[in-house]
Amino acid sequence: MSAVAARLRDLFVEEARGVGIGEAMPLLPLGGLRAMSVTGEHVGPCPLCGGRDRLQVKPGVGWLCRGAAEGRDAIGLAAHVLGLDLKRGGDFLEACAAVLGRSVPDGRDEDEAATRERAERIAARKQAAEASAAQREGEAHDFRAAEQAKARGKWQHGEPDGLHLTYLARRLQRYIRDLPVAPFLRTIAAETYWHGRDERDPRRVPVELFTGPAMVAPFVAPSGHVIGCHLTWIDLARRPKFRPLILDPAAPRGDPLPSKKMRGTKKGGLIPLIGFYQHDGLILPDPHRPRFVSGEGIENTVIAALAEGPRADTIYAAAGDLGNLAGPADQTSRFTHPEIRKPDKNGVMRPVFVKGPIPRADQSPDDAMQVPPWVNEILLIADSDSEPYATASDMARGKARLGAGGAIVGIAWPPAGMDFSDIVSLSPLGN
Ligand SMILES: [Zn+2]
Repeated sequence: MSAVAARLRDLFVEEARGVGIGEAMPLLPLGGLRAMSVTGEHVGPCPLCGGRDRLQVKPGVGWLCRGAAEGRDAIGLAAHVLGLDLKRGGDFLEACAAVLGRSVPDGRDEDEAATRERAERIAARKQAAEASAAQREGEAHDFRAAEQAKARGKWQHGEPDGLHLTYLARRLQRYIRDLPVAPFLRTIAAETYWHGRDERDPRRVPVELFTGPAMVAPFVAPSGHVIGCHLTWIDLARRPKFRPLILDPAAPRGDPLPSKKMRGTKKGGLIPLIGFYQHDGLILPDPHRPRFVSGEGIENTVIAALAEGPRADTIYAAAGDLGNLAGPADQTSRFTHPEIRKPDKNGVMRPVFVKGPIPRADQSPDDAMQVPPWVNEILLIADSDSEPYATASDMARGKARLGAGGAIVGIAWPPAGMDFSDIVSLSPLGN
């Protein structure tokens, strides 16, 4: 190569190094990324590795392809998504060309054979990236399937006439014979409460805090398959909620640990209470019931069923938690909490963000609880013992999400600071 050509090439590289990620993005095959207006990030599938939200690009900051590669500059991003190897001179120049949007200056010492060889290498790298992404997804799938099987087993071994009936009767201030029949609720006589378990990090060693009776309910996918279970530990001696006080041994003065847990998969599933039937191992909603009533918790939803009947035209199901009821939020609808401030790591008080009321546009059925397609009327039961702004926003989002298909959706709010099961717990009636 001549000195002039070498000089031209150096300038070309220098210019490419000056290109920011934001400038390069429109020139790269990143059309599948969604802009997150609040965080300034762009998130979506990686053109090389695939996935759903695998690639995150933040102009001015850097980029990350989860589990594969990351970096801070545009050339590295271009190389990754185009399958180029920066350690090879020809590939490096191609990456520079990609971020500049023009071809490598003439005078490079590359013939047709070298160009063809690179094309083949890129194709091979893309194939390898796809294979390893598929393997990672396969492993995650196997792990999920094993967790689901364990959760299903817990529920299958539960006792239908167990202690949960006494628990519900006391919580709801009724005699057992007056409870509505919720045939899928069961009792595990001795369920261990593990603390510190992290399903994504098997290296963490969980501690066995205690073993005691628990109510177990299945989480059921729209297909009717049991994909998880919901556990509620019971302590009949502890009024008014009849659940054990569980303290974190590492922080004994902190907030108690939750006496409810979920195993397996929850998102996209629901806890069937009333108006479901079992067929071929599946749990399915009764197609003759066009109305659907659901709250976050089992207790609140059963209370609603008791208060109105239960009605023969209604399917009663619990969502398990507010996130599964409300579904994912559109990032742009996020807002700052009008009252709550929290200190950041420098001790500066910062506003707290609340998930907004608008559902995220591209949702899949396993993002949140689904309602049978024939349902035309929905009543959502709110808890108002949790943070009111976040709860109101979540409920509004659930209403918008579930009403998108045309069903009429209402929200039942208990008095401020209570949930419906508190109201009955505080009533003077006893049993
Ligand atoms: Zn990637």
